[in-house]
Order: sequence, then structure tokens, then C-alpha cells
Amino acid sequence: MDKQAEAIQLFQPTFRVDECLDEIRECLEMGWTGLGFKTLEIESAWRDFTGLPNAHFVNSATAALHLSLEIARDVHGWLAGDEVITTPLTFVSTNHAIVRAGLSPVFADVDEYMCLSPISVLEKITPRTRAVIFVGLGGSTGQLEQVVDVCRAAGLFVILDAAHMSGTRLRGRDPGHLADVTCHSFQAVKNLPTADSGMVCFAESELDGLARKYSWLGISRDTYSRSHGGTYAWMYDVDYFGDKYHGNSVMAALALVGLRYLEADNEKRRHIAETYETLLGSVENLQVVPTPPDCLSSRHLFQILVNDRVSMIRGLHQAGIFPGVHYRANTDYSVYAEFQGDTPLAQQASERLLSLPMHVRLTDDQVQYISHVVTELTA
Ligand SMILES: *Cc1c(COP(=O)(O)O)cnc(C)c1O
Repeated sequence: MDKQAEAIQLFQPTFRVDECLDEIRECLEMGWTGLGFKTLEIESAWRDFTGLPNAHFVNSATAALHLSLEIARDVHGWLAGDEVITTPLTFVSTNHAIVRAGLSPVFADVDEYMCLSPISVLEKITPRTRAVIFVGLGGSTGQLEQVVDVCRAAGLFVILDAAHMSGTRLRGRDPGHLADVTCHSFQAVKNLPTADSGMVCFAESELDGLARKYSWLGISRDTYSRSHGGTYAWMYDVDYFGDKYHGNSVMAALALVGLRYLEADNEKRRHIAETYETLLGSVENLQVVPTPPDCLSSRHLFQILVNDRVSMIRGLHQAGIFPGVHYRANTDYSVYAEFQGDTPLAQQASERLLSLPMHVRLTDDQVQYISHVVTELTA
């Protein structure tokens, strides 16, 4: 097999540089780079794009997840150590947020889509369970509807970690419609790349109001509305020990440009995924992680399960291909040692999952080359 001239990376963000600079220039010329101005524009554009009723632009999905749990905890009066059911197969942001809000993660198992299994979620419910965080791994909706049904029947709050799901549709709608709060990431390698930012979208407007306060140190009015608010602009109350989690206009400028290209970029990702599926779908000793039939995935990731991941990665590196692993089961990390759950499928997947390169600049030739190398290494 030929070694390609250039290394093929797992992810590679694409920025429309001139458009980004034009948007940022507006901020600089106006002298407003912070909260307000472009952050309001991206919030409005994101509500239009997703159809969700509320959207608050924050500095990361990590912040969005932490805000979601703190606000739900305070509004619903959850106590320290109350339980949140979650998946081990995620970026640690998801599960850190639970612990940072003073709550206890309870790990449930995954299904063939590598997302939370509704049966496992049901089994993990105790009198102290308050919420479930569903992670749309790779952009997939997995069995989200069934998990939400379990949650509604048990009166549990539903948080959707949609860090991979910008542009995903379930039966034609944004999957955030099913959740009480949805958290998106616009981190540099996600489908809508900025540098670092994200969105927290509460179903209830009252909670969105709290998100604005909690993300600005507990201050009840933001600087932008104060600086346009006349004589009493300096007058505000602080009644909560909040964080500084809000987004800024420079990141919002990048997000506004990214949003213009999100659908077209996701279409390219879907084309790449289809090519991989065609070429790898019937290779022996290798499984493609499936996507559920009603899901139009954002295709943040293309994941396969392999038997000998170490030698596969070694072989790919020798061929100039750099894959990734999403994720090792979080229960393997020492910080989660006290929160073990019985999650055999997640544990198995944690040893076998491999993410192949997936970004909008991959060419058809590269996808064929990668598939060819993977096939040879599996034989
Ligand atoms: C990237 C990611 C996050 C965190 O997003 P940031 O914007 O980088 O904070 C959370 N959950 C998942 C599943 C992610 O992949």
C-alpha cells in the first residue's frame, strides 16, 4: 500500500477566512468584542436554525453542561448526592459537570449505536435519580426517543449533550425538541468550528433567564444592556455566586460564519460516511457503528469497532493516517473510580472503538485509500 504524501488527520477545521475576518472587523471597529452585539445575533440565528425556543451563547459546551445541571438542581431543589444517569462513552465534560454540580453520576450501559440504552437507563433508576444526560455520540440520536419516554414516565429531567449534534435531525426536527435542555459545542474540531464556544438551549424561558444570570457571575443585567440603559446603568444586584461562562462577540462572529456553511459541510460529511459504509460495511472482523433509520446524523464521527485496535492504529500511522478514539469508558479514569457502574457493552466498546478521519476537506481518493488500508489491516 502506498504511503500518501501528506498525513491524513482525524479532524481538520475549515474556516472561511475572509468572511470570518469581515465579521470580526465589525466587532473591532465598533469597539465591542464582549457579551452582547454578535452574541445576540448568533443566539437569534441559532434559534431560527434549530427551531428551539431559547438559546444562550456560552464559552463552551463544558460550561453549558455545568450550567444545565446547576440550574436544574436549584430550580427543582435537588440535594447533594442526588443521582444523574449518564454514559461512560463520552468526553469527560459530560460527567465532570454532574460532579461539579454536587450530584452523583450513575453509569448506564450503551446500545449498538454507542448511545445510552433505554433498558439500562430504566434499570439504573432509584428513588434518588433526578436526571438523565443523553450524549448523541458522533451526531447519532441512538434511541433518544425511547430514553426520553423512560424519563418522562419517571419524572426525570432530560439533558441532551449535543456537542456532536449541530445539524442532526430526528424525523426532520432538531433532537433538542425532546430535551429539557440541549448543549451544543462550537469548539474548533466540532461541526461548527470557532475556537471555543457553545450554546445552552433550555425549553423553559425562565431557565434561560437563569442561564444568563449564572453565566455572568450572578449579575442580573449584562453590561451591554446596561451600557445602553441610561442613568441607572450602574445599578444591578448580585444574588448568586455565578461563573463567567458567557460567550463573546469575536467567537460569535466565527460562529455566524460557520452557521452559514453548516448544512453544506454536514452534507459533505454524510457523503464521506456513505463512502466509508460502502467500502467497509462488509469487511470481516470489523463492524461499522450503525446510525438509526430516522436519524439524519451530523456525522461528527465515523466509528468502527475493531478486534485489535493497537495494531490497527500502528498500521494506520505507518500509512500516514491518524485515527482517534471516542471514547475510553470514563469509568476507567481514576477520578471516576468511586462511581463504577455495571456497563459491559460500554466496556467492550471502549477497547474496540476507532474513529476514522472525518472532516470536510477529505477527498474521495483519501476516503478510498483509508478504507483500503483499514481493510488490509483487518485481514
Ligand atoms: C467536545 C465535547 C464536549 C465539550 O465541549 P467544549 O465546547 O469543548 O467544552 C462535551 N461533550 C462532548 C460529547 C464533547 O465531544
